[in-house]
Amino acid sequence: MIEMSSVINILPDHLANKIAAGEVVQRPESVVKELLENCLDAGAESIAVTVENAGKTLIRIVDDGKGMSGEDAEKAFLRHATSKIASYEDLENVRTLGFRGEALASIAAVAQVELRTRREGTEVGTLVRIEGGEVKERSGTAHPRGTGISVRNLFFNTPARRSFLKSNNTEFKHIYDTVQRLALSRPDVALEFTSDGDTILALPSQRIEDRLTTLFGDRQFAAMVPVREETELLTVEGFLGKPDFARRSKVDQYLFLNGRFIVSRSINHAVFSGYEHLVEKGNFPFFMLSLTLDPRKVDVNVHPSKMEVKFSDEQNVYRIVASVVRKALGRHDLVPTVEFTPSSPAFGSSFRHTAQPRLDVPVAAWTGGSALPSAAPEQLPFDLGPTLDAAFSAPAAPLTTPAAGREPEAMEPIAMWQLHSKYILAQIRTGLMIIDQHVAHERILYEKALQRMRDTVPTSQQLLFPQTVALSAGDFTLVRDVLPFLRSIGFETSEFGKNTVLLEGVPPEVKAGTETSILQDILDEFKNNQLRVKLDASDNIAKSFSCKAAIKAGEKLSETEMRSLVDQLFATAMPYVCPHGRPVLIKVSLQELDRRFFRT
Ligand code: ADP
Ligand code: MG
Repeated sequence: MIEMSSVINILPDHLANKIAAGEVVQRPESVVKELLENCLDAGAESIAVTVENAGKTLIRIVDDGKGMSGEDAEKAFLRHATSKIASYEDLENVRTLGFRGEALASIAAVAQVELRTRREGTEVGTLVRIEGGEVKERSGTAHPRGTGISVRNLFFNTPARRSFLKSNNTEFKHIYDTVQRLALSRPDVALEFTSDGDTILALPSQRIEDRLTTLFGDRQFAAMVPVREETELLTVEGFLGKPDFARRSKVDQYLFLNGRFIVSRSINHAVFSGYEHLVEKGNFPFFMLSLTLDPRKVDVNVHPSKMEVKFSDEQNVYRIVASVVRKALGRHDLVPTVEFTPSSPAFGSSFRHTAQPRLDVPVAAWTGGSALPSAAPEQLPFDLGPTLDAAFSAPAAPLTTPAAGREPEAMEPIAMWQLHSKYILAQIRTGLMIIDQHVAHERILYEKALQRMRDTVPTSQQLLFPQTVALSAGDFTLVRDVLPFLRSIGFETSEFGKNTVLLEGVPPEVKAGTETSILQDILDEFKNNQLRVKLDASDNIAKSFSCKAAIKAGEKLSETEMRSLVDQLFATAMPYVCPHGRPVLIKVSLQELDRRFFRT
């Protein structure tokens, strides 16, 4: 018996392609992504995408790019056939979206593909039909300049893969996301997207602002701030969503690197870090950022999907992105403004709020007519007086100095009124500012609490008569767990028998008489927060404390108290949003009022 000398087979190409296809083509969406990338690499100015059955039975993509010669039209389907790189040096310096030369070969291995293409300057175009990797037809055909590829019955010859496909809804959603990403990365390219005969998108070549508006709507676009920053290492540009537009899910984050949509935990983290304390943990802000940097400083060949990248200088990229975001958010007026729809009837309550619809309620009640504050402003004292009052007996020093140039008008209100013991109305240079007294105080206390945690010098007010607080067994354990944080913001407690704590000191902001109830309130809020979002224990304590110790709606404030509150609010790092991401104040401009009263 002779032993076989070799057991290793070289797989025939069509089989190798079928296997390779598994990496590149996971679902209809991957086909759409690869074909769209090819269109852009071919310099297309307009692209039409058609799908049927969520791409399962048909994906057709037609572009007006440079097209292919008859010879290339067939070559394109060979594995590692690419016109985009020729050498290792080219790979180091990739500027196109494709470069691996795998997509068409992979797609053709697992579907029925028809390619029609014509290059500029050639009379006839080419048609190539290929099924499961086998060329079935090659002929001349009439075709406008550019390329059209139809991919039918994806995975027709790989039933196992086909059975992994999800419902049409899910597969469609994936395709839509990919088309949308492309639409965002290249607003200059016209794009049409049709699904089962319905036009889903019909986007002309347009400015990025218009494209964002078309894709996300006026309201969301109004809540975006533009960023642009150029450094030696990289350029960062795009749009950041205002914090109060943050959402529970991570769906609206768009990151592009040299025109390619990428996924990067590290860059996402950098962006989110710029939003720290502006957005409740567990919520995610919208962002669309394009990074441009020397292709030699980034490796895009990490994964067949080309969505992962490696930066050679990741730390610096992180640092720059984080600081660009922080700066941009700090510079922009994050105050929601109320705008009346110009066409609305004078006393109707329909007006548009540019940030959050729920604010319509209080303001609408006010604009409804008669509820204008009755206190005549002339009677109020104008001096800015001593800033602190019993209710605000916290250390007077502002935590941070307000950023230069931000809201100077807010610092010099001429008059203030309290509306329904709930809102503070202040005259500012540009019109009227309406502050929610509870959330304003919440923001102040929250930053104080965080500051004290950082300083590690607790400011506690000793109670003359220490009080015992009986707790449930669970809350008692909770107090033990979070004791260091409670202590750091000013609670002094010690254990006092079974499930009972002795309260000896409280933060100075705690109102007399509420010492014992506030501890219980904080624990309850802490648990609530735990259920809803993932927060650090320290952040949760700071939030729970600020929420419970803050003045409530319904508390009457004196003029001095209101001034003090507003002063302290504008001394915080972020006066416009409460720790939960809700707006603290809104402004109504004089122009809006004038328009409302037909003065213009
Ligand atoms: P890659 O994009 O990595 O080069 P593909 O398999 O996606 O590999 O495409 C192979 C080649 O086919 C490309 O390099 C390009 O020359 C050609 N090609 C594919 N699609 C188009 C298109 N829409 N227009 C012009 N040329 C195309
Ligand atoms: Mg490609």
